[in-house]
Amino acid sequence: MDLYPLTIHEALEHLRRGSVSSEQLTEAALHRIETIDGQVRAFLRVDAEGALRQAREADRRRAKGEDTPMLGIPLAIKDVLCTKGLETTCGSRILQGFVPPYDATVVARLKQMGAVILGKTNTDEFAMGSSTENSGYFVTHNPWNLAMVPGGSSGGSAAAVAAGECLGALGTDTGGSIRQPAAFCGVVGLKPTYGRVSRYGLVAFASSLDQAGPLAQDVTDCALLLQAIAGYDPRDSTSVNRPVPDYQEALRPRLDGMRLGVPREYFVEGMQPEVADAVREAIAVCRRLGAEIVEISLPHTEYALPVYYLIAPAEASANLARYDGVKYGFSVTDAEDIFDASAKTREQGFGAEVKRRIMLGTYALSAGYYDAYYLKAQKVRTLIKRDFDQALAQCDAILAPTTPTTAFPIGSKVDDPLQMYLGDIFTLSLNLAGYCGISVPCGFAPSPDRHEGDEAWGRHAEGLPIGIQVLGGPFQEPTVLRVAYAYERATEWHCRKPPL
Ligand code: GLN
Repeated sequence: MDLYPLTIHEALEHLRRGSVSSEQLTEAALHRIETIDGQVRAFLRVDAEGALRQAREADRRRAKGEDTPMLGIPLAIKDVLCTKGLETTCGSRILQGFVPPYDATVVARLKQMGAVILGKTNTDEFAMGSSTENSGYFVTHNPWNLAMVPGGSSGGSAAAVAAGECLGALGTDTGGSIRQPAAFCGVVGLKPTYGRVSRYGLVAFASSLDQAGPLAQDVTDCALLLQAIAGYDPRDSTSVNRPVPDYQEALRPRLDGMRLGVPREYFVEGMQPEVADAVREAIAVCRRLGAEIVEISLPHTEYALPVYYLIAPAEASANLARYDGVKYGFSVTDAEDIFDASAKTREQGFGAEVKRRIMLGTYALSAGYYDAYYLKAQKVRTLIKRDFDQALAQCDAILAPTTPTTAFPIGSKVDDPLQMYLGDIFTLSLNLAGYCGISVPCGFAPSPDRHEGDEAWGRHAEGLPIGIQVLGGPFQEPTVLRVAYAYERATEWHCRKPPL
């Protein structure tokens, strides 16, 4: 049976009917990984043996009458989430060889429900980046055009879903790292409200911003995965103890009676015209589905980037202090004393972007600069959150482009970190507010390298995916899922698959 492009909800139907086993699904996924991952490079490591063992166990559980929501579904996990007994490196050389003695809560929940963990997906080192080029191991390629980045930092998870190497995946989103790669790879990605999903076992980058969430082929699958991972966890004091609603229930075909806001500030100069056009067309589709479209304003949008690049590096500089070569992973052997060992381990273990952020963050937190930078950024963060509160008082959810451009060529921005950072302008604010959002495919733009006579013409003819975000207030996941689902049903962008 061809796993590709089977969705999770379709696979569950097959499993329930008995027309396919989890072992067959898992074999198909492993076969697909074997065939194409040499080109895509979405996986840092594949646990074929473990996956097949889990699949057979899932089949046994099903044979006994069990039918938990993820039973037998092969998934991929971003390598910043701890997996018991399976190496977890966060895409960093400094964690090479680190095998966690426990599972992140989100992974533990999926395992309890009988999901099959295929392996760990590539990421920018410690999730710092927007292209997966900051991985300490290798670059992941966009399945729609292998010369392009898949986005990041959950680029491995997004590419694996797009390429049909797994049925769904987990990523993390600190400033856009689920939504942006979802948009670049033509899949659906959801960033939950801060506190909705446990961060226990999510290796910390910026603790006040990080959230784990699903990437999948469609909105229904995203809702299923969110259902599986959401909920209070006594091991994470920032997780919120409030009931998890039934997300499938929220999925309706129409948007009658809903007010959707479009932020004035989110159609900026220099935006790729095809992206702006596709998003405007998607907004028109929502109007035809019964929604009322209103213009809103998020006036502090222009400060989101500087605020994020003070707060996130500040938190990162504190979180990454623990990698001293003593407790985790990599450690140099030629040191003179413990101070030398720590310095050399960090010098050799961290990549350039991580070092840049540790320095930025240490500077922003240092005596004499703390008030001017970090404290000021915290105050402006409150203004950004207030923008969302005021806007969401006038509408049920917000529609906006996920990114200003489609995926860019590998190597084109690596020497210009500011250009790279600027690509996140539409995603960062939501994390600063702590609210939820989903990105869904809403069109395609021509691949820039496409020209006749090019051998790759045929494979690039589809172009590159474009994403639209639906943003909502705290714990409004049902609302953003509903809007995304109605839009998805009315269009066929999510049905297109890369020609691999
Ligand atoms: N691209 C942003 C950064 O580099 C966001 C990353 C993320 O969400 N993990 O920090």
